[in-house]
Amino acid sequence: MEDVDVLIAGAGPVGLSLAIELGQRGIRCLAVERNDRVGYSPRAKTTNVRTREHLRRWGIADTLRQASPMPPDYPPDVVFATRMNGPLLSRFENAFNGRRVRNELYSEEAQWVPQYTLEEVLRAEATSLPGVEVAFDTELRAIEEAEDSVTAEVVNVKSGDVRRVRCQYLVGADGGRSFVRQHLGIGMAGESGVAKNYSIIFRAPDLAARHGHGPAIMYWMVNHDVPGLLGPMDQHGLWFFMATKLANDVDPASVDPVELVRRGTGLSDLAVEVVHADPWVAHSLIADAYSRGRIFLAGDACHLHPPFGGFGMNMGIGDAVDLGWKLAARLQGWGGARLLDSYEPERRPVHERTIRESVVNYATVGNQLVRPALEAVGSEGEAVRRDVGEVIQATKGREFYTLGLVLGARYDDSPVLVPDGTQPPPQHFSEYVPTARPGSLAPHAWLADGSSLYDHFGPGLTLLVLGGADGVDVLAGEAHHRGIPFKVKMLAEPGLRDRYGARFALIRPDQYVAWRGDTLPDAAPLLERVTGHA
Ligand SMILES: Cc1cc2nc3c(=O)[nH]c(=O)nc-3n(C[C@H](O)[C@H](O)[C@H](O)COP(=O)(O)OP(=O)(O)OC[C@H]3O[C@@H](n4cnc5c(N)ncnc54)[C@H](O)[C@@H]3O)c2cc1C
Repeated sequence: MEDVDVLIAGAGPVGLSLAIELGQRGIRCLAVERNDRVGYSPRAKTTNVRTREHLRRWGIADTLRQASPMPPDYPPDVVFATRMNGPLLSRFENAFNGRRVRNELYSEEAQWVPQYTLEEVLRAEATSLPGVEVAFDTELRAIEEAEDSVTAEVVNVKSGDVRRVRCQYLVGADGGRSFVRQHLGIGMAGESGVAKNYSIIFRAPDLAARHGHGPAIMYWMVNHDVPGLLGPMDQHGLWFFMATKLANDVDPASVDPVELVRRGTGLSDLAVEVVHADPWVAHSLIADAYSRGRIFLAGDACHLHPPFGGFGMNMGIGDAVDLGWKLAARLQGWGGARLLDSYEPERRPVHERTIRESVVNYATVGNQLVRPALEAVGSEGEAVRRDVGEVIQATKGREFYTLGLVLGARYDDSPVLVPDGTQPPPQHFSEYVPTARPGSLAPHAWLADGSSLYDHFGPGLTLLVLGGADGVDVLAGEAHHRGIPFKVKMLAEPGLRDRYGARFALIRPDQYVAWRGDTLPDAAPLLERVTGHA
């Protein structure tokens, strides 16, 4: 029998992020992954600003920037056209805030990078940490729950070797068909099988030179033939193409992927070498519960939605962060019995809001935007294209400008925060208005020395002191007494106190505000509440 603190089922982006969040805090964990997780599976390309802020905290944001097959100054624009060789309909610049410019709202711009590259960077970091093991070709097959532990049987699918592992906590980051969720008997509510799609990864070294739309991360093809989207995966001719909403009676196995690419792009003689072809079905589902006892679900294991807006992986990494510091706090002894109970009340509303948004995005894709005479030459076609361009601007912008969702995700109903009596500000999917109201992401700022405010937060709780310091020693002393990793950061930067709306703010390990105020309250009740002891 082997012993670890946390057993993670699945080493996709969510399992690996959890392993990093735990491993960097000295927690021993084993992530088991039944596949080798290599290859070109057509998944995420959008690593959003919030995920990159986590990478920055983990010390690997620059590593990902350098590892990307796309140069950092590649324009993060989105083009809508009838075909690659057809007229332009609309263009969005700086999609997902991916442009490399300093923005007061966040510390890292988004990055257009294949999921497999991000996973390589996460894997390298996870496996470099003492106490973390990532076992590939290893499947979780059986789970036994006891009051004080969970015991699991994991099997090497190549050698047949069986390992029995006892852990304090088990996390199912094992994807949409989660074995762990099935073991718990937890169902998924919502709509399954919303529509069929077909993703193709292909090499076409000539493609970049065969169109006049200029460099972009995505080209949406709006035509009757094969509505879909495509974009570069590297600078050497590797592309993805996604045909959206195939008719229900179409069997993807009967579709020739090369023909699909040629028809969709309008480049009928394009040299295409298919590297990977993968039909997939969009769902809109959320788990009925996220945990039972010592077992938790994270990522696709507890939420599935159409990938429009690029939220799935990013949101799952957010789950890993929320769960990771709380599991570590419990295992290190400073987190109370109620801390882990806050995982679902914090994350579920974020998931629900994001799923709703992705469903809105998926409701209007090329299939819905196409019109008769869209490709007609002359003034009739031009008028239709102008109209469709306006519809695209009106309906699709919210898919590419998402800071309101990504940075505006809030934990209003969390039991481990101290409300400050103010009303929650309105939420908007695109516009992000920073607020230090407890339950919100700590407002970001660039400091005079060029560093990000976030770089000054510690791995545990951070007391941000923005004026005066009375009572700080008492709070720090109480935190020390309770074994809470605690940092005091005093700053006199102009404007920060206004931005935080208070002299003090208590920041959690995930950079969320747990409490704010102009005077420090009694130390013990405050710390008990935010660490889940109350
Ligand atoms: C076409 C497409 C485009 C997308 N684009 C984006 C995007 O731009 N941005 C974005 O954020 N998201 C995007 N997504 C979604 C994203 O790919 C997923 O949300 C993400 O992969 C989920 O990560 P995960 O770690 O939760 O699950 P997965 O990636 O599914 O990983 C789970 C792992 O668990 C393993 N596993 C399962 N059962 C067991 C077991 N019993 N024992 C051991 N291992 C097991 C599996 O082998 C798998 O490797 C896209 C998805 C698709 C299909």
